[in-house]
Amino acid sequence: MSAKIISICLPKGGVGKTTTAVNLAASLAIAEKKTLLIDADPFGASAMYLGFTPERIKAGMAEVFNFTHSLDFASHKTELEYLDFVPSNVNTIQRDEKFTKIAENRVVLKNAIKGAAEKYEYIIIDCPPVMRGIVANALTASTSVLMPVKSGNFSLEAISKLFKYVEYIKEIANPTLKIEGIVMTMYESNTKVTEISERELKLRYNKFLFKTYIPRNQMVMESTFYGKPAILYNVNANVSMAYLELAYEIINKYQKG
Ligand code: ADP
Ligand code: MG
Repeated sequence: MSAKIISICLPKGGVGKTTTAVNLAASLAIAEKKTLLIDADPFGASAMYLGFTPERIKAGMAEVFNFTHSLDFASHKTELEYLDFVPSNVNTIQRDEKFTKIAENRVVLKNAIKGAAEKYEYIIIDCPPVMRGIVANALTASTSVLMPVKSGNFSLEAISKLFKYVEYIKEIANPTLKIEGIVMTMYESNTKVTEISERELKLRYNKFLFKTYIPRNQMVMESTFYGKPAILYNVNANVSMAYLELAYEIINKYQKG
């Protein structure tokens, strides 16, 4: 078995990357695909989204990038049988400086992930909104990139920058890197801005757009507050269903080969 490694990326904050990483990973796990979620954002909050308090974290990306612990040791079990999680515990300026320095070497994560790639079917990497260091590591290690785009307030510039960056990484480090797709997040139907952004996206990136879009729903923030993926907080909510559909869109694509 060799895992499909999907980086969740966009060089813009607040677009739904972490929400998508956590909920897509949870949905893949619910579909009984053995999944590992890696929080590669040094100041990331995936741990909070999954209800992990600092005392429950024995090791994380800080130790993996420090070469003091393996990725396997830094993996934590979650509420979901098929989902494991590597937290980002970089979270101090001193640790971040060291982490950033080591991440200048693009292949650290690729090497660290090798064992996990044989153990899991999917590895989802939540990236910070930058295009260097740890994101270069994530893309060098990945099969594909998934871009969440906030509908109504999206940046064509961020998307086009990321497409260029993917080309660059393909050239220097990972020739087989693919675009998994663009998913619209925080989608509000029947609004003018949604209509305009959807039209613009279709015009430029139609073949990359997922059929599934993720609706805006306050419940997402509530579920974060309770430290649960949306699907475990309220399985019937439109947003939980949407993330399950997104997972199935991805699973089907890989099953077709
Ligand atoms: P990023 O990781 O790209 O910075 P987040 O996933 O942290 O973005 O999301 C940014 C904010 O938007 C968070 O407060 C999150 O709860 C909220 N959010 C994300 N997706 C949705 C959604 N579908 N509906 C409502 N709020 C959302
Ligand atoms: Mg984030």
